[in-house]
Amino acid sequence: MQQYDVVVVGSGPAGSSCAKALTDEGLSVLVLEKEALPRHKACSGVLFGQTQQLVKAYFGADAPAEVYCDNRYIEADDIRQWSPERGYFPYSWETDKDGVSFPRRYQNIWRDKFDKWLLDRSGARYLDGARVRGFEAGDGGVTVQARLAGSDEPAVFGCKYLVGADGNASTVRRLLSARTEVPAAGGKLASFQSYYRLESLGTLKKEGWTVFLMKEIGDFILCVHQKGDQLVLHVGGKDGRDLRGSMGKFKEFLEGEFGVRLGAHWRDEGCMLQLLPIFLGEGRVLVTGEAAGFIYLNCEGISAAMDSGYRCGKSIAQTLQTGGNSAKDLYAQGCRDILQHLEKCLSQMHFFA
Ligand SMILES: Cc1cc2nc3c(=O)[nH]c(=O)nc-3n(C[C@H](O)[C@H](O)[C@H](O)COP(=O)(O)OP(=O)(O)OC[C@H]3O[C@@H](n4cnc5c(N)ncnc54)[C@H](O)[C@@H]3O)c2cc1C
Repeated sequence: MQQYDVVVVGSGPAGSSCAKALTDEGLSVLVLEKEALPRHKACSGVLFGQTQQLVKAYFGADAPAEVYCDNRYIEADDIRQWSPERGYFPYSWETDKDGVSFPRRYQNIWRDKFDKWLLDRSGARYLDGARVRGFEAGDGGVTVQARLAGSDEPAVFGCKYLVGADGNASTVRRLLSARTEVPAAGGKLASFQSYYRLESLGTLKKEGWTVFLMKEIGDFILCVHQKGDQLVLHVGGKDGRDLRGSMGKFKEFLEGEFGVRLGAHWRDEGCMLQLLPIFLGEGRVLVTGEAAGFIYLNCEGISAAMDSGYRCGKSIAQTLQTGGNSAKDLYAQGCRDILQHLEKCLSQMHFFA
């Protein structure tokens, strides 16, 4: 059985940031990712101001040129909501943290390339096509079971700590709930995006990102922004809403109201979002990023994932170096400001129609 100091489940921003914090301390880390890499993730792919600062602070550089869309920047002032009564007015996706404001020039990226770059830069070993299905945790360590693509035999890995950075539908969080008290998920929302080649924006404002809150089309934000030569349309609804129907209505609305013209359809993507109360894990199994419930204002989640993931990794490293068993307590202490910011974001949420 291969042995590591830490096995991390999930190669999103939380998993890679956790891995980076651990490799920086000289620890051995294996990241297990169920998808083939580079994998896509349903996302608008915008690095807000705080995220850009965290990328530099934790990974020591900006992402390379190939990670960005052709239209690399979106200015915060060019993000607007539109309603028939008010026309355009400002829409805010990011809010000050601890009294500090962030750069207002955001970066437009391709999530598959960005996430792969973070993972490579973490310096951790990784296996893709490796779906974690179970684990056994004891005082001495954790054994992790995974199913590898193309193999019928389960693979088993040993580690001192296991980290679930496996996103909103976290398997690690679900498996932990059979052993310890885990706060139950709230309601479910569904998110759906379609990419079309852009022929004309008509009278829709250029260069920015436009948000609509219209109950007749979706239960939470509808939005549209450009990525290279593609226009990305997003609709969202409560579990059970027909989002393909919502997408059809949204297209008709954009064509009718603004004269937007869309060309060839490139792809669709979607996901379910459970509302997860914060849960940091138990003993030698910690949870981070969206799996732990860290997501900021109106679904701004990459920064929350990176920051919580990195601090989770640092807490484990400190615990292993000092021979204690207080990783979860250190992690909870280290995340206090993130939790405060989360509360602030929840109080300012303007996301629902
Ligand atoms: C439509 C939409 C648009 C968004 N746009 C933005 C945006 O523009 N900017 C922003 O900051 N945030 C945005 N977010 C939020 C952001 O995408 C998430 O908050 C962020 O990706 C969370 O990172 P994470 O690392 O915690 O999880 P994820 O990025 O979800 O990564 C989890 C990883 O774990 C893997 N995994 C899951 N289960 C297993 C398993 N059993 N075994 C192995 N691997 C597993 C998954 O394949 C995945 O790679 C958006 C969200 C949605 C839904």
